[in-house]
Amino acid sequence: MEHVTPDQVDWTKLGFDYIPTGKSFRAEFKDGQWQEGSIVNEATIQIHEASPLIHYGQGCFEGMKAYRTKENKIQVFRPELNAQRMVDSAHRLAMEAYPVEDFVRAIHQVVKANKDWVPPYGSGASLYMRPYLLGNGPMTTVAPAEEFVFGIYVTPVGPYFKGGLKPFNFLISDYDRAAPKGTGRAKAGGNYAAGFIASQAAKKQGYADAIYLDPLTHTKIEEVGAANFFGITPDGQFITPDSPSILPGITKRSLLWLAEHRLGLKAVEGEIYVDQLDQFAEAGAMGTAAVITPIGSITHGDHEYVFYSKDEVGPLTLKLYQELVGIQTGDIEPPAGWIQVVDC
Ligand SMILES: *Cc1c(COP(=O)(O)O)cnc(C)c1O
Repeated sequence: MEHVTPDQVDWTKLGFDYIPTGKSFRAEFKDGQWQEGSIVNEATIQIHEASPLIHYGQGCFEGMKAYRTKENKIQVFRPELNAQRMVDSAHRLAMEAYPVEDFVRAIHQVVKANKDWVPPYGSGASLYMRPYLLGNGPMTTVAPAEEFVFGIYVTPVGPYFKGGLKPFNFLISDYDRAAPKGTGRAKAGGNYAAGFIASQAAKKQGYADAIYLDPLTHTKIEEVGAANFFGITPDGQFITPDSPSILPGITKRSLLWLAEHRLGLKAVEGEIYVDQLDQFAEAGAMGTAAVITPIGSITHGDHEYVFYSKDEVGPLTLKLYQELVGIQTGDIEPPAGWIQVVDC
C-alpha cells in the first residue's frame, strides 16, 4: 500500500478505508506478566501458527474515536468504559486482561504519537482507534493461550453520513448472532465472523444490514448489525433492548443519559417485541462508527414497519445525534467525566 502523509489527505473526502499512519501501540503478556508497552512503527504482528487466536478465535477488540475541537485540542470520549468492557470481554474468553489504567494511558500515548492524523475540526472526520487483545503462542490442545498481545491501531475516518443524516432500511434476519449465555456481551471476534452471512444476505436484498432477534424466543429486537437499537414513542419514551446477549454499547449508555437529562425523555431499557414495533414514532441504531443511524423501516417477513419517514430524519433522533456529536467535538458542555483532553 502506498503511504500518504497527513498533509496529502483531503479530510473532507475521507471514507472508512484503512489508511496507514505508521504508528501503533503494542504490548505483550509473557512469562506471566504484561511487559511495558510502546509505540511501534509496524502494522503487522507475528502470530504463532498454533495460536488460540487462529484456531479457537481467542480474540476481542474495541472501537473508539479521537476528535479535534474548535480550539484545536484533541479529546477522547469515555475511554475508561472501553477499557473496562475489554476487561469484561477478556474474562469471558479466558484471556489475560489488559489493565484499565494501562489501556487509558496507551490511548493517550497512541493519539499523541498520531496527533497529525487527527482530522481538523469541522471536517466531520475523526481518528478511529481499534484496541485489540489476542491469544498467541503455541497451544495444540483446545485451551486458552498463555501469551497475549494487546495493541491499538489508528486510522482517520470520515463522517459516516456525508451531507447529513439519512434513514436506512433494515431486514430482520433468521440467523442468531449470539446465545443467551454465549458471547453476545463480549466484543469477541467470532461474533462478527458469525454475522457476515446474515449481513450479506440483507445487503443482497437491498437493505442496509440485518437486525437480530433474541436467540431464545425470536420475538424481541436485539441488535442492528453491530450497533444497538433504540425506539422513541410518541409520548416521549426512549427505549432500548435489555438482554444478556447484546453488546453493552457506550453510545447506548451515553444516549440513555442524554435522552433523559438533556432531552427530557423517559429513557428505559426494556423488551421490544417485533410485533409491537408500531409503537415507535422514530427508531435508530447507535454505535461509535456512525453515532446514530436513523432507521427508516424494518422488514419482518412480509410486514414492513416504517418509522417517521423513509427519507427524513425524525426530530428527536436528530437532536440526540447533535447533542452527542457536539459533546464529542467540544461544542457542547459534556457531563462530568465524559471527556479527556490528550496532552500533545
Ligand atoms: C461495538 C458494538 C456496539 C456499539 O458499541 P459502542 O460502544 O457504542 O461503539 C453495539 N453492538 C455490537 C454488536 C457491537 O459490536
